[in-house]
Amino acid sequence: MSRFLDRCLQKTDAYTPGEQPRDKQYIKLNTNESPYPPAPEVINAVNAEDLGSLRLYSDPTCKVLKEKLSALYGVKPQNVFVSNGSDDILNFAFYAFGRENGAVFPDITYGFYSVFAQLHGVEYSEIPLKDDFTVDYKDYLGINKFIAIANPNAPTGISLPVWQIEEIVKTNPDNVVLIDEAYVDFGGESCYKLTEKYDNLLVVRTFSKSRCLAGGRLGYAFGCEELIADIEKIKYSTNPYNINRLTLKLGEATVDNDGYYMEKCGEIIKTRAFTKAALENEGFTVLNSDTNFLFAKSNRISGEKLYLELKNRGILIRHFSKERIKDFNRITIGAPEEMELFIKAVKEILYGEKK
Ligand SMILES: *Cc1c(COP(=O)(O)O)cnc(C)c1O
Repeated sequence: MSRFLDRCLQKTDAYTPGEQPRDKQYIKLNTNESPYPPAPEVINAVNAEDLGSLRLYSDPTCKVLKEKLSALYGVKPQNVFVSNGSDDILNFAFYAFGRENGAVFPDITYGFYSVFAQLHGVEYSEIPLKDDFTVDYKDYLGINKFIAIANPNAPTGISLPVWQIEEIVKTNPDNVVLIDEAYVDFGGESCYKLTEKYDNLLVVRTFSKSRCLAGGRLGYAFGCEELIADIEKIKYSTNPYNINRLTLKLGEATVDNDGYYMEKCGEIIKTRAFTKAALENEGFTVLNSDTNFLFAKSNRISGEKLYLELKNRGILIRHFSKERIKDFNRITIGAPEEMELFIKAVKEILYGEKK
């Protein structure tokens, strides 16, 4: 660190992304990417002409993509924001809405919330999940701070019903409530329609998980016109062309092919049920998941040991060292064949080699 670095930045613990090792080919069950490729129409959406057009800036208003998203979800284009990944939007939201009154979020949740809070000097507190790892919505009623909740939550996979979200939004009218719906397509209930009724609700979504486009970097958000204008202002004050031409085209084709993605979500939900049952069969405690991952622990092997043994066998899962969840691992749902290999490896690790 240089002696010139700003004080807030000095105190920020940067986010640790899931590992992406290149030493060999792993079965990657550690960063919640989709095991499936984008729809064929998406793969064919970019041609040589588009590459030639890269000499020109991209459309800063993202007009076509916004129109397509608003048609698919039945909202107006003024109620949609798009940006370079949903992390970008979370960053903007903490900056825009967190600094005045401070922020709260659960103690076990997406690791980026505390990073953005530190980065922007937002005072924050973490509200502990209940013993069963659920969010108690009553902890957030009338709290009068900026609130960030991932619904379904990560890394637990558990979701809140929309009526509880509505209570939180309703009882905090003078602060923004950000609901991060990164995983909502895998079984959660979306609250985005409430943005028509409440001016303090911002619903953030991503193309990275259910839209098989993590490497394209595309996120979007729903909110009332004024909230969207607020975060547009930050985008226009930092990097108006933050979605490149190619990703815009891929995003448009993705929205056009929603059926393909809903079908893939259905397959992942089936594979999740198979994997959960198989782990429970081996004595694991597995939390109920509305996402494309499972959060599980064994009483026969520590979370860290299982993670390391699987890595030795070429399978990556995510282990967190935070005290409260160190016995658990987060396991992304891959393709059925990958999950069969995963379960086979788990059995080998638990019962000794090759039985
Ligand atoms: C993956 C994830 C994101 C980030 O998604 P990007 O759009 O790839 O930046 C946001 N929130 C949660 C809870 C996530 O798990």
